[in-house]
Amino acid sequence: MKRNRIRITGIVQGVGFRPFIYNLAKSFAFTGWVFNDSRGVEVEVQGSGSDLVEFRKGISTRKPAISLIETIDSIDISIIKNEDSFIIKHSKKEPGEFVLISPDLAICDNCLEELFNKEDRRYHYPFINCTNCGPRFTIIKDIPYDRGNTTMLPFKMCNACQSEYDDPGDRRFHAQPDACFDCGPGLTLLSSNGTETPTKNIINKAVHLLRSEEIIAIKGLGGYHLACDALSDAAVSKLRGRKYREEKPFAVMFPSIDQVKEFCEVTPEEANLLTGTVRPIVLLKKKDGTKLPETVAPKQKYLGVMLPYTPLHYILLTEFNAPLVMTSGNISDEPISFLDNEAKHRLKDIADYFVIHNREIFMRCDDSVSRIFNGKEYPLRRARGYVPFPIILPGQSDVSVLGCGGMLKNTFCLTRNNYAFISHHIGDLENLETYKSFEDGIEHFKKLFSITPELIVSDLHPEYLSTKYALDSPIKNKVSVQHHYAHILSCMADNKLPNEKIIGVACDGTGYGDDGNIWGGEILIADYNGFERFGHIDYFDLPGGDSAIINPYKTAISLLLKSGISDDVILTKLFPDLNAEFKIVKNMITKKLNIVKTSSLGRLFDGVSSIIGVKHKINYEGQAAIELEMIADENYNGQYSFDLKKDGGTQLLLIEQVIIGVVNDLLNGMSNEIISSKFHNTIVEIFAKAILEARNYSNINQVVLSGGVFQNMIFLKKIIIKLKSLNFNVIIHDNVPCNDGGISLGQAAFGIFNF
Ligand code: ZN
Ligand code: ZN
Ligand code: FE
Repeated sequence: MKRNRIRITGIVQGVGFRPFIYNLAKSFAFTGWVFNDSRGVEVEVQGSGSDLVEFRKGISTRKPAISLIETIDSIDISIIKNEDSFIIKHSKKEPGEFVLISPDLAICDNCLEELFNKEDRRYHYPFINCTNCGPRFTIIKDIPYDRGNTTMLPFKMCNACQSEYDDPGDRRFHAQPDACFDCGPGLTLLSSNGTETPTKNIINKAVHLLRSEEIIAIKGLGGYHLACDALSDAAVSKLRGRKYREEKPFAVMFPSIDQVKEFCEVTPEEANLLTGTVRPIVLLKKKDGTKLPETVAPKQKYLGVMLPYTPLHYILLTEFNAPLVMTSGNISDEPISFLDNEAKHRLKDIADYFVIHNREIFMRCDDSVSRIFNGKEYPLRRARGYVPFPIILPGQSDVSVLGCGGMLKNTFCLTRNNYAFISHHIGDLENLETYKSFEDGIEHFKKLFSITPELIVSDLHPEYLSTKYALDSPIKNKVSVQHHYAHILSCMADNKLPNEKIIGVACDGTGYGDDGNIWGGEILIADYNGFERFGHIDYFDLPGGDSAIINPYKTAISLLLKSGISDDVILTKLFPDLNAEFKIVKNMITKKLNIVKTSSLGRLFDGVSSIIGVKHKINYEGQAAIELEMIADENYNGQYSFDLKKDGGTQLLLIEQVIIGVVNDLLNGMSNEIISSKFHNTIVEIFAKAILEARNYSNINQVVLSGGVFQNMIFLKKIIIKLKSLNFNVIIHDNVPCNDGGISLGQAAFGIFNF
């Protein structure tokens, strides 16, 4: 007989850890206890020595899927006589204590089994859940996390549910959203004008409507989806027309992984991500020759795919037995609808019907978007299923920091000790309602994690609403961090890199530089304390500033003129349909009217896309660059010539030769596929050459890649191969996106290391 005291730290609270320990201890017939305190979970167990070894192993190997163990320490202590049971002790309350809060989790296998078991009392109950699954973050209004502080408050548990909730041996022990047909939320079907449509079986009716090419707004975990038959070109086109979303790809929900495989290539890693507890939208390579209409994801090699994650999705998709478009319930770029009344109002002209329920969504939360790159997850949008789990920082400070993020794809980040709580994807702050959810989100996170930030960090861009928020904030200590430096710091913090100098390569759309120009193709030598701008893409003119972002032809004309291409060639050969536009843009450039200088690689991709006629004007962010990537053949090896130039201490990456090469190929009748491939290869080579110069200069061998252009898979893949062939150690993102969704983490990391 022996007794162990075991201390477990990490993400071990609010994730069903105590019932897990309870049941594990019971399975060995141990006596003792378990409780939570502010440092984690403490356990004392008493039993045979060999069983104790097995028990400790079991903690690591059988822990709840979403928990994360940082440390397990065990010591032998003296045995206690006359102890006769194993109990869950009440948590110790300590001042300023905080507990981690679980993200919303996809339905677990046990609940799924019950959901489709005709004998079970919850057969086809759309809100079945347990300690291991179901809503969390989106229903929590306040701490501590118990039912009274969630949107489940109005639902009083029936006796059957209550006895599950009270039984430590039950899977629903302390499952706050526990419910059933007798006591929990239910569904309602509404027509587009908001009147209830009485039906015996709402799911059957919804399936019938979807088969008739109707659009249904469906209330989910963190907001409303708009759903329609993904195999019906007519239904998908109708949805595009009503949503004012011409070409941006839609995500598709499939009933099963087997059906996904009919339409897409699926690697084992992708299958794991699709079927795990998070269930993000996963970008998968589309197969050729499937029945999926082109309108679902026009001109894309990839399709955003997800599997059902709520019981409601499972019942619906099983009955429909075919893929559904499931896109966020909004008009164009507005935030996703999540409140019933505003959804009914905003979506009434898009949806033919509504399937709603009476469990309120407290916090709006979009679907996450992710992909697998080189066998590992490479996130694109971090929201449902990930948030509000913290990232563990490589350093800590007594000062809590608020990083306000960027303007587009905004997230914010609050720190406490070595935890960074990055918010869910908030969206583009230009929209008033999005800005409001940014403000509300910050207050909510401060409350949930008992954080009072003492330092506020923002972007350098004076016009970002997140910057203005910081400037207006009552928090006295303020600092701003350059956008691309924040990108690099976010990737360093994401990978828990220590505070040592690295070569940071920020390939991005646009960000405000500390010289007042717009940066975005940067080579920085940086650590957490500061950076030196070693090199960048040679500045070119961005006519009309932000208007060039939605009109890539303006950037194209600027690049052509800079590269010495004659007006005659541009007017007659390249842009015969854009003669009027050419004259306006040329006039702007020669007279320096409304011109900003930029070193942005994203804009360079846009410009080349327009030069070869792929896209002159865009319908969604990054479209021209994305469509240029989609036509490239990654197996093609040719490239254009290029030059580097030293200007004072700064390494400039010159682009004239590249543009001339593109134009010559075009005039010689070379295909766009080849030109795009050669362009991609050239950008890889020119950056690799400049990074080599940075190594010669600094003796640093570690390269950190961040910024939105690293969402381009061909560029990412090829630059990694190239840099590895030159014996560089290459670091890419792991938990947060390389796009502006990661900016807030970089800002927070700067705060942590400097205050
Ligand atoms: Zn469950
Ligand atoms: Zn019940
Ligand atoms: Fe950026």
